[in-house]
Amino acid sequence: MTTLSTHAISDPIDVARVRADFPLLAREVHGKPLVYFDNANTAQKPAAVIEAVDDFYRRTNANVARAMHALGEEATNAYESARDAIARLLGAPSRNEIVLVSGTTQAINLVAYSHAMPRLGPGDTILVTQMEHHANIVPWQLVCARTGATLKVAPITPRGELIVERFVELLTPDVKLAAVTHVSNVLGTINPVAELGRECRRRGIPLLVDGSQAAPHLRLDVRALNCDFYAITGHKLFGPTGTGALWAKREHLEAMPPFFGGGEMIREVRFEGTTFADPPHRFEAGTPNIAGFVGLAAAIRYVEALGIERIAARERELLAYATAALREVPGLRIFGEAQDKAAVIAFLIDGVHAHDLATLLDHEGVAVRSGHHCAHPLMQFYGVPATLRASLAFYNTHEEIDRFVAAIGRVRTLLG
Ligand code: PLP
Repeated sequence: MTTLSTHAISDPIDVARVRADFPLLAREVHGKPLVYFDNANTAQKPAAVIEAVDDFYRRTNANVARAMHALGEEATNAYESARDAIARLLGAPSRNEIVLVSGTTQAINLVAYSHAMPRLGPGDTILVTQMEHHANIVPWQLVCARTGATLKVAPITPRGELIVERFVELLTPDVKLAAVTHVSNVLGTINPVAELGRECRRRGIPLLVDGSQAAPHLRLDVRALNCDFYAITGHKLFGPTGTGALWAKREHLEAMPPFFGGGEMIREVRFEGTTFADPPHRFEAGTPNIAGFVGLAAAIRYVEALGIERIAARERELLAYATAALREVPGLRIFGEAQDKAAVIAFLIDGVHAHDLATLLDHEGVAVRSGHHCAHPLMQFYGVPATLRASLAFYNTHEEIDRFVAAIGRVRTLLG
C-alpha cells in the first residue's frame, strides 16, 4: 500500500513524487496529457485511497455494527477509523460529535430539518451570504417554506469579500441560525469564520459552516472557529464520493430528533413506539458507504502525512503564479480577488462564451469547469450567467498552468 512519511512543515512538496501517487494524473485526454484544474468540483484520489477501497472489498467486506464475526468486527473498526480521522482533521473534542453522512449536502439538510425546523416559525430568519453554494441555500429555503421563516442575505463586495460589518448588523434577534461557507467554491474567498462565530456566539445564534472547500486546503479547528456545526464532503478531500461528515456540538446533537429512521439508529423498536440510539448513531440510519469511509480515512491519513500547511503553502504559490499569468491575457476578467483566497480562479474573457472556451480547452487536455457552479445568486450578483473556473490542488504544476494559459491564448485567437 502507498505510504508517505511525515514531512517538516518547511519542506516544499516534492511534486513529481506526489503526482506519482495519483494514477489518474498520468492519463491523456484527446491525445494530450491531462491538466486537471477541476479540483473544487471533485479532487483526484491517491493510490492509497484506491487501494484501501479495493483491499476492503477483497479482504474485509462485511456489514458494520451488527455482525458477530471477525469480518464484521474488522469492517466496523475500519469504518469507525474514519470517524477518528475526521475528528482529528476537524479538531473535534469528541469522535461522538462526528456524524458520518453522504456529503455536505446531507450534512446541511440534517441540520436544517433536525435542528432548525423545530425551532423556526413566522418572523424568524436564517442568515446566509451572497456567496453560498446551493447546498447552503436550498435546504434553508425548504425549511423556511414549511415554517414561515425567511432567509436574510449578507452582502459581499465586488472583490468577493463578505462585508463583515453588514453580516454583524444582520445578526438581529430574529436570526435563529447563520450559515456561511468557509471558502467560496467560485471566488476562493476564505471567510473570517472565527470572527463571524464570535459575533454569533455573543448573540446566542448558532453558526453552521460549510467546510466543503476548506477541508482540503486549510488547517481546521472547529473550537477555534467558534462554530456550532461544520460540514465536509469526502470527495473534495481526495476521498471517495458519497462520504462526508457533520461535526456538531454535543449539546446540539443531543437535542436533535432523528432525521432518517431505520436500522442502526435505534435503541429499541416496539409498535407502540421506538427509542433512539445516542448521537452520532441516531443520525446514521441504514447501511452506510462502508468502503467509501475506509477510503476517506486513507485520504485523511494521506493529507496528514503530506501536511496541510505544506499543501496550503504549495497552493498559495500556485494561485499567485496562475493569477499573474491570467492577468496578462487581454480581456480576461477574474471574479474573486479577496485578500485571503484559496486556489480557485473564476474568470471570463470578453466576447467568449464560457462553455465554448471550456469545450475547446478540453480538446487541449485541460479540464476546467464552466457554468454557474451551483451558485446562481452569486452569478446574479455579478450579472453573468456562467464563468469558467480553474481550481488547483497541490499536485498541479507551473508547467500545467503555462499550458493552460497558452491554450487560452490559442482558443482566444480562434474564437475572437
Ligand atoms: N458547498 C460547497 C461550497 C461546495 O463547493 C459543494 C460542492 O460542490 C457543496 C457544498 C456540496 O457538496 P456535496 O455535493 O459533496 O454534498
